[in-house]
Amino acid sequence: MKEILSKSCSDFIDDNKLEKLISNTKEDKARVREIIAKSMEKKPLQIEETAILLAAESQDLVEEIFNAARQLKKDVYGNRIVIFAPLYIGNYCINDCVYCAFRKSLRTTVRKTLNEDELLSQIEALVDKGHKRLILVFGEHPAYTADFISDTVRKVYDFKKNFGEIRRVNINAAPLDHEGYAKVKAAGIGTYQIFQETYHHETYRKVHPAQTHKGDYLWRLDGLTRAYEAGCDDMGIGALFGLYKWKFEVLGLVTHSLFLQNIFGVGPHTISFPRVRPAHGVDLDPKYFVSDYDFKRLVAILRLSVPYTGMILTARETPQIRREVLGFGVSQIDAGTRIELAGYTKKEDGQELNKEQFQIGDVRPMDEILCELIKTGYVPSFCTSCYRSGRTGQQFMEFAIPGFIEKFCTPNALLTLKEYLLDYAGPETKAEGEKIICKELAKIANPKTKQQVAERLQRIENKEHDLYF
Ligand code: SAM
Ligand code: SF4
Repeated sequence: MKEILSKSCSDFIDDNKLEKLISNTKEDKARVREIIAKSMEKKPLQIEETAILLAAESQDLVEEIFNAARQLKKDVYGNRIVIFAPLYIGNYCINDCVYCAFRKSLRTTVRKTLNEDELLSQIEALVDKGHKRLILVFGEHPAYTADFISDTVRKVYDFKKNFGEIRRVNINAAPLDHEGYAKVKAAGIGTYQIFQETYHHETYRKVHPAQTHKGDYLWRLDGLTRAYEAGCDDMGIGALFGLYKWKFEVLGLVTHSLFLQNIFGVGPHTISFPRVRPAHGVDLDPKYFVSDYDFKRLVAILRLSVPYTGMILTARETPQIRREVLGFGVSQIDAGTRIELAGYTKKEDGQELNKEQFQIGDVRPMDEILCELIKTGYVPSFCTSCYRSGRTGQQFMEFAIPGFIEKFCTPNALLTLKEYLLDYAGPETKAEGEKIICKELAKIANPKTKQQVAERLQRIENKEHDLYF
């Protein structure tokens, strides 16, 4: 029996409309500037407006878009970067996505589902590094039911070691039905992430064979609408760049975001924009691969189009690209990433591609990444406060409530960074981190908030944990 779609289900992606917008929109400097001005007022863009930004080809105009994205990131998000790690739970899969090393027909991939001991040792390894936020990743398989996912989430939350614990668990797995989402919500998940991969119908059909579960475009497109209806109000959308024209996928993401915003009054919490990476047994036509330059353009244009949506940049990208793109509006990155099943307890560095979904570009240890972030003026944050205080489903809240960032986000970033420095950081990160905490504390304008943060920092120094606003 086929599962039930959402009440608001519709195929809101009109390929012809998006194609026409791309081919008929010409570069227009004056319009680009007007649209940038609109973004700077933090208003979400319509797809026609995003199309005008996408049509900007001359280098000086693209540079203006980059500068605007940098400015908007500073105005909206400040210098905080939220840190997380992916944890692969199982790579059995019934689908046959051509770009993925986990696809069913690839017999040479080593398959595994973490057993309970392995799961606990992975969590321990992550906690020992200082992680507080995980995203659990699953292939699609009858064994990976909503009950199994919920059970895994509970085990992650239950793990405690000294003061170490995971405080927020997000999910990247196959789309569920309403009942399934209600179960994972009850287990306390944060974001449920589903990438549409490509919004272009014909390409979608080519890369996801029709007889597979994932071959059903609408079931996937409707996945997060069902999630919201079932109570998962924190949704993560994404596209896998390199399967079709990058400009089309940007318009697809913006259309999806506006769709959710229009029906629920809540847009997606995050947008992901992975580029396809080399992977075991994968040989893709490079026709639509995205250059580094275009990648920067797409990140900057997404930032301007959806000013209030968190943007996730993963370790698929190299350190160099991560450094450059971070300033264009990224709000979350993973660090210390290992994507081999049980990879966090492996002694040797280096990937074994026949056990992993794809090759990653940034294999640096978490502490090294954090140290670099701090030295370049960012405040790494392990904050999980909004979600744990029930402030979910309204990504606008932090921006709509005057002073919210200064009252909650910055203090929580500083408190969680302080915890990290005391419990896990290497000497250089610790020294640099203490400096940035002082600097950021001095910038807090409200004297009462400043005093409260200073007091809590002192309590953390005295070995208290998990203090937040
Ligand atoms: N199996 C679930 C699904 O397909 O929805 C979970 C997703 S998968 C484990 C995580 C994401 O990795 C996919 O949605 C896809 O976008 C991405 N991915 C797959 N193959 C990739 C590759 N070769 N390079 C980069 N990203 C890839
Ligand atoms: Fe399976 Fe997901 Fe890989 Fe597709 S992308 S083969 S569904 S793990």
